[in-house]
Amino acid sequence: MDYAATTPTSPEVLDAMRPYMLEDFGNPSSIHSFGREAKKALDDARGKVASLLSVAPEEIVFTSGGSESTNLAIKGCATANAKRGRHIITSSIEHHACLDAVKYLARNGFEATYLPVDGDGVIDLNALRAAIRDDTVLVSVIHASNEVGTIQPVKEIIEIAHEKGALVHLDSVQTVGAIPVNIRELGADLVSMSAHKFYGPKGVGALYVRKGVRITPLIHGGPHEKKRRAGTQNVAGAVGMAKALELAVEQMDQEVPRLTRLREKMIDAILSRIDHVRINGHRTRRLPNNVNVSIEYVEGEAILLNLDVKGIAVSSGSACSSESLSPSHVLLAMGVPPEVAHGSLRLSMGRGTTEDDVDYVVEALVDIVAKLRQMSPLYVSGPCDCKG
Ligand SMILES: *Cc1c(COP(=O)(O)O)cnc(C)c1O
Repeated sequence: MDYAATTPTSPEVLDAMRPYMLEDFGNPSSIHSFGREAKKALDDARGKVASLLSVAPEEIVFTSGGSESTNLAIKGCATANAKRGRHIITSSIEHHACLDAVKYLARNGFEATYLPVDGDGVIDLNALRAAIRDDTVLVSVIHASNEVGTIQPVKEIIEIAHEKGALVHLDSVQTVGAIPVNIRELGADLVSMSAHKFYGPKGVGALYVRKGVRITPLIHGGPHEKKRRAGTQNVAGAVGMAKALELAVEQMDQEVPRLTRLREKMIDAILSRIDHVRINGHRTRRLPNNVNVSIEYVEGEAILLNLDVKGIAVSSGSACSSESLSPSHVLLAMGVPPEVAHGSLRLSMGRGTTEDDVDYVVEALVDIVAKLRQMSPLYVSGPCDCKG
């Protein structure tokens, strides 16, 4: 129940990668036959990723994953276009890879605007229209929330930004490989993705950079990746990412409706069997595998630890923020009161999740919530809203 944090590398992916670690281990920059073999594998992987996304191979930059892609998109684009303007727009519900990159720029001569969201976590388009200026160089938004699953109206966001001449970066780490993403049709300029979110290996990802869009590299040191990211490429990783994306795209037609059914089954069961709960995020424009729930009068961490004892892995907020006990910035931006946000859980399903798993998790959750609420002085059972 934590596939949004990461996924297992599928066996076919590992099989595809293995030769490029054991036999064809050459450096793709070397001229000799070992190097040429590696270069060919890298080119093939780039070609496959590009064709699965219907973009050109030169538009794909391999990176170490979603965080690096997002940093390269935001800092690289802002730096390369600083002469045009120094204003960046993002939202209040971004992943920390985006928020912290923007914060870094804001400390170094750029200005940032954070767009508000509504109660479902949808970015306010009128706020974007009002915020965008002649010196806005970049609008960076999360395509779908890793926490609450809400899918953003990215086509509209891109249209509004492009009308004013601003470039758009999509953090599509939760959408590429999970739902259809048509980069060209959307018109995005920069798109981040990460292999380990779609059954590929950890530590490899890509940034789509539309032809003609200039970015300054974060890592200097050689002409790799057409001077956009120095360093000997992770050949096996790139091969694995391409294979993983191929499998994900192949299975999407079956997986999207299957996961959507499981999601709705879980949401219905939670709403009917636990009182004082709310589902966070948009009810329909939502990632197929995401359930995010706030359960009043209990702590999310307490539920998480009790579920862990039963062998169930969930997240309270997001894995990255679980180390701090402050409530999720995403839920707070959506207007969830802090005391309610504290009782929040994200359950995210994947290829291995079955109907039986959903039943097992719901039973466990119902038991644990009842047990924890028995110890809560604030909880009064029943459907009425008798708080306090
Ligand atoms: C996982 C994730 C990232 C970070 O990707 P890594 O490959 O783990 O660095 C960025 N954005 C979103 C939306 C994510 O879900």
